[in-house]
Amino acid sequence: MGKVLLVILDGLGDRPINGKTPLSEAKTPNLNKLAEMGINGIMDTISPGIRPGSDTGHLSLLGYDPYKYYTGRGPIEAAGAGIDVKPGDVAFRVNFGTVKGEGKSVFDKIVVDRRAGRISETDPLEKAINEKVKLDIDFIFKRGSGHRGAFVLRGEKLSDKVGDTDPHKTGVKVKKCIPLEDRDDAKRTAEIVNSFMEQSHKILENHPLNKERERKGLLKANVTLLRGAGMCPHIPSFEEKHGMKLAVIAGTTLIKGIGKLLKGYVPDVEGATGSKNTNLENKVKEALKAIKSYDFVLLHIKATDEFSHDGDFEGKKKFIEKVDKAIEPMLNLDFGEVCLIITGDHSTPIKVRDHTGDPVPVIIVHEGVRVDDVNEFSELKAWKGGLCRIRGMDLFRISLDLVNKMEKFGA
Ligand SMILES: [Zn+2]
Repeated sequence: MGKVLLVILDGLGDRPINGKTPLSEAKTPNLNKLAEMGINGIMDTISPGIRPGSDTGHLSLLGYDPYKYYTGRGPIEAAGAGIDVKPGDVAFRVNFGTVKGEGKSVFDKIVVDRRAGRISETDPLEKAINEKVKLDIDFIFKRGSGHRGAFVLRGEKLSDKVGDTDPHKTGVKVKKCIPLEDRDDAKRTAEIVNSFMEQSHKILENHPLNKERERKGLLKANVTLLRGAGMCPHIPSFEEKHGMKLAVIAGTTLIKGIGKLLKGYVPDVEGATGSKNTNLENKVKEALKAIKSYDFVLLHIKATDEFSHDGDFEGKKKFIEKVDKAIEPMLNLDFGEVCLIITGDHSTPIKVRDHTGDPVPVIIVHEGVRVDDVNEFSELKAWKGGLCRIRGMDLFRISLDLVNKMEKFGA
């Protein structure tokens, strides 16, 4: 039976400006060749008009109904940061930030930077927090890349219905965590979080690394700003749910987190940064290696979305051209064995600078697909193809059907 290689360009789709999009304007001989070899269409990752997050979009593309399984970004980021999250854990995203001001309590202090001067060396801070903070409950604190991190509470009577301590702007006080429901578990969780906030602030304020930063004129990383509380869901692994082995090749913590949550193989690829400077060649190499031993390989490429968020038409166009070069080895895949899909997880139009519900183009190349007349990879042309308009969950099932892994419905 065959395998599926799903390539996702984050935020790929656009709304045309004077009839043009970065994808329609980019020179993409390899992607055009694949469009010509395959069947094309457009896809609503979740449903027409729904603006997908990258997380909900990817769940859908992996055959998990996001309305059933999505419980917020916290647990996914925590998994991506390398925490082995368990069902019932309450997870937060964390920023190391900088606060200043008088007063004993962290909640009297003013946030002056939400990224602590984009600090990168946070290993000793992570260690100090894990060693010295004492809570009534088990917790795991882990640094992520740069100023980021994750915080997980584990135990009974917890709730994810609590507010952020991150005020999401500077010049204001650190927020107290408040229960968002009038329930004992939410009140208790908020109290635990506030205790963590006070203790971690004291530890960080006096940490040698921060004293050193102060001497050098750098901002201290003296507060942990928490946001996006989510309770880790009971989510079946990819293998349990679909009977296939999953590999996820990605640079960003969020997508790696989805791979880890679904118990897939998620290698750290050299040079894969999840950003504009990523090493596309290495990622493609890793994906082509993984398809030899895994049934379903997701290759995620992030920067298309970043250029969109920056409103950079030229940058997005040029990056798509780089992707086109990097995926050239995929033209030599054995399409009797591998079903290759190229698509996006949502549109991020240059003018909007945020995700929209506009559908994205899809190519499927596999032996036996009904090849159509589309010979160019563009969201402005793909609708003419034989796939017409489908949803993300449909795409997942169509790919399984093509490689003869779909269960029969009925006798
Ligand atoms: Zn996305």
